[in-house]
Amino acid sequence: MEKKIENIPDRNGKKRVVIVGGGFAGVEMIKRFDARKFQIVLIDKNNHHQFQPLYYQVATCGLESTSIGFSFRKSFQKKKDVHFRLCQALSIDSENKYLTTTIGTIEYDYLVIATGTYTNFFGNKALEETTMSLKTIAESIYIRNRVIRSFEMAVNTHDPEERKRLLNFVIVGGGATGVELAGALSELRKYILPKDYHDFDLSRMKIYLVDGLDRLLNMMSPRSSEKTANYLKKMGVEIVLNAQVKDYSDNKVLLANGTVIPSSNVFWVAGVIGNGLPGLDKEVYGRGNRVLVNEYNQVKGQTSIFALGDTCLMSTEKYPNGHPQVAQVAIQQGKNLVSNLERIESQKTMRPFRYKDMGTLATIGRNKAVIEMGALKFSGFFAWVIWLFVHLMAIVGVKNRLFILLDWGWSYFTHDTSLRLLIEQKR
Ligand SMILES: Cc1cc2nc3c(=O)[nH]c(=O)nc-3n(C[C@H](O)[C@H](O)[C@H](O)COP(=O)(O)OP(=O)(O)OC[C@H]3O[C@@H](n4cnc5c(N)ncnc54)[C@H](O)[C@@H]3O)c2cc1C
Repeated sequence: MEKKIENIPDRNGKKRVVIVGGGFAGVEMIKRFDARKFQIVLIDKNNHHQFQPLYYQVATCGLESTSIGFSFRKSFQKKKDVHFRLCQALSIDSENKYLTTTIGTIEYDYLVIATGTYTNFFGNKALEETTMSLKTIAESIYIRNRVIRSFEMAVNTHDPEERKRLLNFVIVGGGATGVELAGALSELRKYILPKDYHDFDLSRMKIYLVDGLDRLLNMMSPRSSEKTANYLKKMGVEIVLNAQVKDYSDNKVLLANGTVIPSSNVFWVAGVIGNGLPGLDKEVYGRGNRVLVNEYNQVKGQTSIFALGDTCLMSTEKYPNGHPQVAQVAIQQGKNLVSNLERIESQKTMRPFRYKDMGTLATIGRNKAVIEMGALKFSGFFAWVIWLFVHLMAIVGVKNRLFILLDWGWSYFTHDTSLRLLIEQKR
């Protein structure tokens, strides 16, 4: 075994739970653990939890990036036997029960893989290198800068072709993120940019939302898809369906049907793929590279390794292809696993995971959202208010909630935001 990770105290007779990933699942577990019973080690390649549902608002100048990120060390200051290490998990040795990371190895009694997903480019390296994805706060900030810079360049250029490319925004993927991004860009065009660029014709800005399927929001009912498409069309978004993106090079998006869209700004939000860890058998990975688990989130063939949230696939009668990859599944699985680890330690049988579906929601812009909760399906202003409330309450920390409420309230009543500074990284 390589060198051990420094300074993790002795277990003092307690069982050590190593959690890889401080996303919705990992954080929920740490909140619920009784530190008198377990020692917790959290491994994450970032020093903060990221609230992914609001990335698109950071990317479109609607929210401060700091409002949707939460430092692990600050969040767990009062949890004395919780130890955070900033590093990347590399591989698992399940026989000897240790995890190898970029800063050394660590032994575990229980290992939790809660590593989420990464953007799926379907094996197309060129698209991976040339398009922008929205999977981290850093990427959201990058997109925000690109959007602002594109407008400045469009104002400055003498070349009409270059201006067209800079003002064509192409979003690939008509799921919730694509819809939300398209709606937010459209509102930027309508309410905010005209104030900043009063000497520039903004009607030249075009927003394309491209999807390979025949409708948007495929995870919702056809009725909600239709409502969403109608809202977006009214907001001036060009919806291109049944159109797969084949290539993107020389600032041109090539669709499978031969259509070419010139653009310097292509956002790839067309899907995700499970983010497992090396060291497990190949048979452990199922559809979408998700780790196969049983009803207790135990990894196939393992008793001390668990996988949770987006990265796992638990096949049930209702969800034969796994649960939807949403925050609620990760949170509920985290909660169930804490209770099961406590049950194992007190020689009780584990309880199977049962998903309580709280509904699916997507916002399309100011005053517009679609919601499905079982048989209940509705859209419009009331749905939008619920969307705001649900997201606000899910944010960690009173201060962040207040700041977000202030940003939202300010932009709602003034039709303006104040987050359009171009601050790019320099050495
Ligand atoms: C743009 C976007 C919008 C979304 N909107 C919604 C929404 O509106 N509603 C909703 O319910 N869901 C939404 N989702 C999905 C939701 O965010 C996920 O379902 C949820 O984050 C899954 O939680 P998780 O704990 O499984 O993984 P994540 O939250 O993805 O966390 C994974 C963690 O693992 C860490 N990690 C990964 N690999 C390693 C490694 N090798 N070593 C160390 N650390 C590692 C990462 O840094 C991260 O902190 C959205 C997702 C995206 C990308």
